[in-house]
Amino acid sequence: MNITRCPSCLKPNHTEFCIPCRKKLFGGKRISPILPFSRPEYNYRRASQGERISISGIQSKYSLKLKGTSLELTECDGEYILKPSVTGDFVNMSDMPSNEHVTMQLAKQVFGLHTAENALVFFRDDDTPAYLTKRFDVKPDGSKLLQEDFAQIAQVSEESGGKSYKYDYSYEKIASLMKIHVSTYPVELEKFFKIIVFNYLIHNGDAHLKNFSLYFNEVIDSYTLTPAYDLLNTRLHLPHESELALDLFEGGFESESYQKNGYYAYDDFYEFGIRIGMLPVRIERFMSEFFNKADKMKALIDISFIGTPLKSLYTTMVDERMKALCYSYRKSVTKN
Ligand SMILES: [Zn+2]
Repeated sequence: MNITRCPSCLKPNHTEFCIPCRKKLFGGKRISPILPFSRPEYNYRRASQGERISISGIQSKYSLKLKGTSLELTECDGEYILKPSVTGDFVNMSDMPSNEHVTMQLAKQVFGLHTAENALVFFRDDDTPAYLTKRFDVKPDGSKLLQEDFAQIAQVSEESGGKSYKYDYSYEKIASLMKIHVSTYPVELEKFFKIIVFNYLIHNGDAHLKNFSLYFNEVIDSYTLTPAYDLLNTRLHLPHESELALDLFEGGFESESYQKNGYYAYDDFYEFGIRIGMLPVRIERFMSEFFNKADKMKALIDISFIGTPLKSLYTTMVDERMKALCYSYRKSVTKN
């Protein structure tokens, strides 16, 4: 494997993890990005009847632990999660780990979102990349932070809500649960807002109920949103996936802009921000921050580990969404 940039932050001229990334990921230890074991066998799981076909439904996950200076597979006390590429009915599957990696880096480096620490690592024998993420609920002494995802918080499960229970909800309703469970909710709701807009921008159609969690933050003695995780451009693999995994609004609301154009644009996210209790000036500021990021995004996608044809496809897809986010039906009508 010819590594020429840090397989975590993508900084050029590195043949292994750079020192800041070693600190964040491995407590400063010099760990090789080449795993000391081969790719585990994978059995493709087909969606059962009534189950929504989704990326999260087919990804396989392994638990890893740092032993000495190498990462090893473990049954218990895992500190990292490893997601190799999988095979199946979707397209561009071998690029899925690189997609998740660069998308998480875009969230962190370009949009300043708080994300789980992550990197790419490579299997010993065949050089194929796998996505590695450090568990944020495991404290340095090995004990775990209290953590609950929003399916647990909303008290919905397959038994109560059927096979698609993770998707049968709205982001607006998650925000109302945050107001109940999070004492510092004005700050956390703004973070949540940014993640939702980011997911739309990068075509993540699989951010379901279980992809948002709260954990007990001992520093401020309150539940807060966990770092963002599982962010990837799902449309690179499932071209016909819905725009967002959940409805933006509760009760089937559609903005005038959505009714006219059939896709989410500026007015929808503005309305969403208002409904979850953000100040208009804050929403406008967040949205305008998003609009100037296209060049930085392209630059990071270009140096990522995604295959070349997919890089330009990813960039084109981002441009299309950037255009949608900049477009306001309400403002265009007022102007004319
Ligand atoms: Zn780095």
